[in-house]
Amino acid sequence: MDPSQPNVFLVGAGPGSPGLLTLRAAEVLARADLVLYDQLVPERLLDFASPAARKLCVRDLPGNHPEKYPHIHALLIETARAGKTVVRLKGGDPLIFGRGGEEAEALRTAGIAYEIVPGITAAIAAGAYLEIPLTHREYASAIAFVTGHELPSKPGNRIDWKAIAAFPGTLAIYMGIARLPIIIAELLKHGKDPQTPAAIVERATTGEQRSIFSSLANLEETRRQAGLEAPGLILVGDAIAHHAPHAWFESRPLFGRRVLVSRPSHQALGMVRKLEHLGAVVSRLSTVEIREPADFSMVDRAIDQLAEGAWDWLVFTSANGVHALLRRIEALGRDLRCLGRVKIAAIGPKTAEVLREYRLRADLVPESTFSSEGLAAAMVPEVNGKRILLARANRGREMLREELAKSAAFVEQVTVYDQVDAVTDEPEVINALRRGEIRYVTLPSSNIAKGVLKAFDETIRNRVTRGEIQLVAISPETGNAIRDLGYPVAAEADVFTEDGLIAAVVRLAQSEPPH
Ligand code: SAH
Repeated sequence: MDPSQPNVFLVGAGPGSPGLLTLRAAEVLARADLVLYDQLVPERLLDFASPAARKLCVRDLPGNHPEKYPHIHALLIETARAGKTVVRLKGGDPLIFGRGGEEAEALRTAGIAYEIVPGITAAIAAGAYLEIPLTHREYASAIAFVTGHELPSKPGNRIDWKAIAAFPGTLAIYMGIARLPIIIAELLKHGKDPQTPAAIVERATTGEQRSIFSSLANLEETRRQAGLEAPGLILVGDAIAHHAPHAWFESRPLFGRRVLVSRPSHQALGMVRKLEHLGAVVSRLSTVEIREPADFSMVDRAIDQLAEGAWDWLVFTSANGVHALLRRIEALGRDLRCLGRVKIAAIGPKTAEVLREYRLRADLVPESTFSSEGLAAAMVPEVNGKRILLARANRGREMLREELAKSAAFVEQVTVYDQVDAVTDEPEVINALRRGEIRYVTLPSSNIAKGVLKAFDETIRNRVTRGEIQLVAISPETGNAIRDLGYPVAAEADVFTEDGLIAAVVRLAQSEPPH
């Protein structure tokens, strides 16, 4: 096997937030045929792998924790020998309490080439996300990564707590929550000051991050009161007293708020990222699928007519419409010159941006109201006696056509893509809604709203009615569609875009007491 072309990658996934994955990790994930991931790795990171890749959690391999290793090693070796690319994805850094060394050794013994991609380890992430200086010119000249869960079979297995208690810096103790009382007792017994500042953080870097600060002596009591559980990271040392009072991440406007994104899966990711940056815990439900029209004959005819200059205006009411028409032009072996003779209107900035990706500049975009009404109002003065082609989905409102037909010479609609209601079966998300674990449900169009609300059962409906689940609509039109189905609308966006929808969630969250 060519060692310069490894096909096994031992990859650190970082502490949880997808943005903290390294570029190299994202690159190799995108190439993987198999991603074998640890239980601690959030499934969200699997978005970086191809949809076609097989994703397997070590939890699903046979055996209990220590007995899994032979299976993990065998799977890595077998898959590599079959010429496939494997990413072995581990939380944090693969070589810090991650057994990456053992896996590398097994590969080496089997003569299989590999690459190791480091990751941000929990302690480093906790420093940044709790604003704790892990080293400090006056108070900490070193940092130690310590396991709080020593392997009982290790020869002389007891950790040298005497040496650790005397360590001249910050202690980052991994896997120690279950044994916290013993750890505290050992440190105190060996002379650590009971007043030494300490902290515990759970799920650092995610919207579910929770943290406590206390003296070493009171740490277990503080943890119990706050209900922090394993897994978590314990930090001990004088530098911890210098943490910021309100860490930047925990001050984010949606920190800890649970938000549902219901965009079609190929569009959800951008919105998910934005919400995560605001501190939210995001769930996803994909409802509307975009498909090619079953029959392209009308689209092809429209493209011929556009090339001949038969239309004065071409109107796009969605980014999907732009992609669909331009993909078809390409598939026909034609190019942008087909659109050389027509003026182009876009319903809003997002649609205009997608046009620009194809090197097309919209001649008209409404200035503030990105809806059919806004577009109609902006276009009406321009279209007297003109011929207008609307590129749209197989369903939608007739409002735009009707309004334009009042002054245009001729208006035709062509279906460039189909929207299919496909409430993907996601029982986990539905159950989370049932249990009241999601607070805000974002609804980015009337069709999606209908699809999502159709998937709600009586329990969820009651929670919405009682205001425990809040529906946030992208526009008054979507709000009306929701009310027509008998549900209350908690907020409507002012600007009818994804960012407007997010801003509406932020406003709503700020008007409510913290969770
Ligand atoms: N290789 C990992 C550590 C694996 S051991 C790394 O480099 O981070 C698992 C322990 O890591 C947990 O028991 C906990 O102590 C710590 N840990 C991992 N991710 C964490 C996170 N996001 N927040 C807090 N602790 C975390």
